[in-house]
Parts: sequence; structure tokens; C-alpha cells
Amino acid sequence: SATPDWSAIRGDFPLLTREVNGKPLIYFDSANTSQKPEQVIAAVDDFYRHHNANVSRAVHTLGSEATEAYEGARGKLARFLNVRADELVLCSGTTFAMNLIAYSWALPKLKAGDTILLTRMEHHANIVPWQLVAERTGATIKVANLRPDGSLDLDALYAAMTPDVKLLGVAHVSNVLGTVNPVREICKEARKRGIVTVVDGSQAVPHMAVDIPAIGCDFYAFTGHKLCGPTGTGALWARKELLEAMPPFLGGGEMIKEVSFDGTVFNDVPRKFEAGTPNIAGFVGLGAAVDYLQAIGMDTIHARESELLAYATKVLSDIPGLRIIGTAPGKAAIISFVVEGAHAHDLATLLDIEGIAVRSGQHCAHPLLQSLGVSATCRASFAFYNTKDEIDRFAAALRKVRTLLA
Ligand code: PMP
Repeated sequence: SATPDWSAIRGDFPLLTREVNGKPLIYFDSANTSQKPEQVIAAVDDFYRHHNANVSRAVHTLGSEATEAYEGARGKLARFLNVRADELVLCSGTTFAMNLIAYSWALPKLKAGDTILLTRMEHHANIVPWQLVAERTGATIKVANLRPDGSLDLDALYAAMTPDVKLLGVAHVSNVLGTVNPVREICKEARKRGIVTVVDGSQAVPHMAVDIPAIGCDFYAFTGHKLCGPTGTGALWARKELLEAMPPFLGGGEMIKEVSFDGTVFNDVPRKFEAGTPNIAGFVGLGAAVDYLQAIGMDTIHARESELLAYATKVLSDIPGLRIIGTAPGKAAIISFVVEGAHAHDLATLLDIEGIAVRSGQHCAHPLLQSLGVSATCRASFAFYNTKDEIDRFAAALRKVRTLLA
């Protein structure tokens, strides 16, 4: 297929034309949240201007338009990930999805003597809910370590899959190291041992074609705001039988069929897990985001971002005193780095003066940073709308601020 017009695509993102501190903005924080194209902003605007009503309640025209728009977005997301629409629970994001699994699946199932296996590179969203479960059930948490390049030590991970392990939580892609984990192989090994698998797809879905059934996991969670969609959107996928066997997480409207003070009949899945009025406009926007990304093509996006990553890695490697953390082969377009003699927050603050947005700190992954022996890193994360020219200006700014701090 023809090479896309990347400069026209960049032009779809109105925010990228603004200035910060008198300099053209360079946005290298897409792993934190992505920017939104005009098409997404327009879809949200159109919903509020022309179709706004609540879903699944009113018989009037607007009510059915809103329901169709919301369910239409669910269908788009399902096709995007190759899953059934009725197996996709729409929610506010990965954090919500992980807590849903923790409270509805793990809390009733786990007991003292059981083990939850996690990896050293997990985001707090895939750590803290399990700690809450462990505290209440008496289960314990075991952690699989990494190799020096930031990849998972698979032999150690498989050796850690002992008979007491009931659940494995693993990131598809690390938000700090960029490591892409072989989740298909990992889930296969877990399945052989009867371990339920929870894959955190937050950093994978925005950057590569993800076919959830091909991974063979039990649960897959992701967030819409990193996928060019609005904040407060995301989803949890699980097989229908698994969702049906789980008790509801939150109770309220929408998640019921019948309520009396003698008892309540819950709605069918996935609605059983969608209590209250959902983020309707947000999901309309996320549906538009999926349309937008699919029109470019996820493989095309992945190739573009890999090219930006390779270029940035080369350019940054030439900067004295700069060390990249996370060098696993085939990684995603995320570069964490430290600069000798300069604190990450100071670097990020000086880069901001140059109009450059990078994240600094511990990236919601305290245990990972502790194991790496660094107190904080700067993280430059790229999206398909970034350019090589921005990377050159970033490198020049880094050289400048480095001499200021050294
Ligand atoms: N997991 C990973 C790997 C992430 O990068 C993030 C977002 N930083 C999350 C989970 C949490 O996503 P959210 O804040 O949207 O719930």
C-alpha cells in the first residue's frame, strides 16, 4: 500500500500546533496519554450537539440514537481486537478493569496458600489491586524478575509457575522499558498449569495490531485515552462464560434486569458490569479513534513508530553521559533514560522551557525502578504523529540542558 502522508496525519491533531514557552510544542509523552485527532474531537462534539441522551432507558428517539452510538462504539472496539462485542466490558480504563477482576474474580476465589504471580515491570494498576486481594484473602504475591536488557527472564517466570500460583498478571508492553512481552507463549505456559492470566494491554493496543484470542489470555485490559480516545474510557475483555460466572463488581442502574426488595436479577454480560450511566460521549469518541487508526492501519503505525524509535535511539546514544534503560530487542517506541549528574525532574523542567514534554519520575512503577537502582528516569515516548525533526530538536535541547546541569 502507498506510504501515508504523515504530515497530513499530523495536521489532524490540533493541539500539536500550539506553542509552549514560546517554542513549538514537541509532545513526547504519548505513553502517558495520546493527543486526539480532529475526527475524535468532532465525534464527541457532534454527540453532545445532536444526539445526547442516556442509554438503554428512554424509548424516545434521542435515547435510541445514544444507545446505538454507544453500542456502535463497543462493536468497533470488538472488531478492532477480534473479539465478540458481548465479551467486552466498557469501563473507565485499565485501572478500573484490574479492580473489576480483583474484586469479582480474585476475591471470591483466592485463599491462604494461593499465589499471585506478577512481573517486576508491572504498572501500579497491575500490582496494587492484587495487594488488596492478598491482604483480604491471605494469598501471597510472587514476582518474576527481568534480564539486564529489561526483558522478562522466561525460564525464571516458568519456574515460578508452581502449583500454588492461581493468577498471573503481566504487561503486554512495559510503560517504562518499552519491552514487548511474548504474551502468547507466556499465556500458553500458564494455561498448561491452570493459571488464570491477566494481560495489561495499556501500552500495546495503541501501537500494534492486537488480536486478543490469538494471545490466549483469560483477561485483557486496556485504556482508551492512550489510543487517541477520550479520557475515562477503556475496556476489559474476558470469555463470556468467565464473565457470567463472576459476581457483579458495582451495583446500580443499567446492570440489572429486575429489582425488588426480595432480590435483584442482574443484566446479561457485559451490562452486568456496567453499573450507572457510562461515559457515552467518551466511547463515541473512542469509536471514532478506532476508525481513525484503522484507516491508517495498525501495522503502518507500528512500522512508523519503530522507525522513530530506531532514529531516536541512535541520536540519543551519541549524547555523553546519557544511558537508555530498556534495550530489549523489538521494543515499543518508549525510551527511558538517565543523564549522569542530572536529576530527571530537573531535566524535564528544563526541557519544558524548550517546549518539550517528556515524563519524569517513577512512572507508576516504583518496584521496577527500585530494582534498576535508579530513583527516577526521564521518558520520551513517541506516537505516529511525531517526526524525526522533533527528535533532532529534542537531542539538541538535551545537549544544551545537560551542560546547564552538569
Ligand atoms: N498499565 C500500564 C502499562 C500503563 O501504562 C497505564 C497508564 N500509565 C496503566 C496501566 C493505567 O491506565 P489508566 O490510568 O488509564 O487506568
